[in-house]
Amino acid sequence: GSTWANVPQGPPVCITEAFKADSFEKKINLGVGAYRDDKGKPYVLPSVRTAEEKVVNAKLNKEYAGITGSISGTGALRIAAAFLQRFYPGDKTIYIPNPSWANHKAVFSDAGLKVQQYRYYDKNTIGLDFEGLIVDIKAAPKGSIFLFHACAHNPTGVDPSQEQWKEISEAVKAQGHFSFFDMAYQGFASGDTDKDAFALRYFVEQGHEVCLAQSFAKNMGLYGERVGAFSILGSSAEEKKRLDSQIKILVRPMYSNPPIHGARVASEILNTPALYQQWLGEVKEMADRIITMRSLLKSNLEKLGSRHDWSHITSQIGMFAYTGLDAESMKKLAKEHSVYATMDGRISVAGITSDNVGRLAEAIYKVKG
Ligand code: PMP
Repeated sequence: GSTWANVPQGPPVCITEAFKADSFEKKINLGVGAYRDDKGKPYVLPSVRTAEEKVVNAKLNKEYAGITGSISGTGALRIAAAFLQRFYPGDKTIYIPNPSWANHKAVFSDAGLKVQQYRYYDKNTIGLDFEGLIVDIKAAPKGSIFLFHACAHNPTGVDPSQEQWKEISEAVKAQGHFSFFDMAYQGFASGDTDKDAFALRYFVEQGHEVCLAQSFAKNMGLYGERVGAFSILGSSAEEKKRLDSQIKILVRPMYSNPPIHGARVASEILNTPALYQQWLGEVKEMADRIITMRSLLKSNLEKLGSRHDWSHITSQIGMFAYTGLDAESMKKLAKEHSVYATMDGRISVAGITSDNVGRLAEAIYKVKG
């Protein structure tokens, strides 16, 4: 028989197959975590187009970049995981929120870390289980690794308030935990990249030693270009040198060198003051469109006479809304209304448009009342 006869069929890794197979013209895809414009089309930021032209016109060579450089957010998470696995002096268990982005567990356990969950989402309030979160931080063995979504928590859209972050910081510090921030949506939560960086900057101010995985997939719309950054805070220039040398040793056998084109585009935007200002405006436009769609969905449900409280749709933040719909309802939405999203009730608000929000509200109303 074949060498691979015993390789089992794995489950599908994405949810777009059923959507593709549906021939209904007005089908709605709320599964993908990518921004869409109000016509439902993929969006390339004008600042990215300009930066790209500058990069192409500069006729740069295609030599290797430096070894350190991440392959988007996932690559940064993977480098961080490998580094922690090799060098973290304490227990190599990472605590992630329950729930979290589905890929977190896979990335961390494939890199050899043990993964545990801390309480985060309260399904009764469709909000933050702040008490549970604090209790779990305090209950974890001293010096544990804690992963936090810096903003726009995926999948729930539920973020701690600034006051709550301060309490989280205090509890983390009292236990001597190490904080690891995943920042995949900076600017998408509030429309303001500074506001969305609050938690991370506050932790640094408070003297936490942190590491950070950053993605430019969403806020620059550079998904397939794979642009990200891994950062780790060292205590001195000498320590930075040691850390840097070890990160190179880790990256070299994994993928040797990062891709250069998307990184050049991002760098052009971040380092050209006029382009940078333009980009900030475009991030805000994307965030504002999402915020508008949240309130339209809520008001449409209310107009239909829904007897449920949908205030979480507008209190949640970022690209996703956690509707509170169960798997049964999500199946019905797909089967009877051609509305596709994940079975956990998460919908990508970025897939809602002025055109489809009415039909979406009707579908949710018919399924849930
Ligand atoms: N972290 C979180 C929480 C995410 O939602 C994502 C994207 N879905 C990522 C990291 C990484 O994405 P990418 O590798 O495309 O930058």
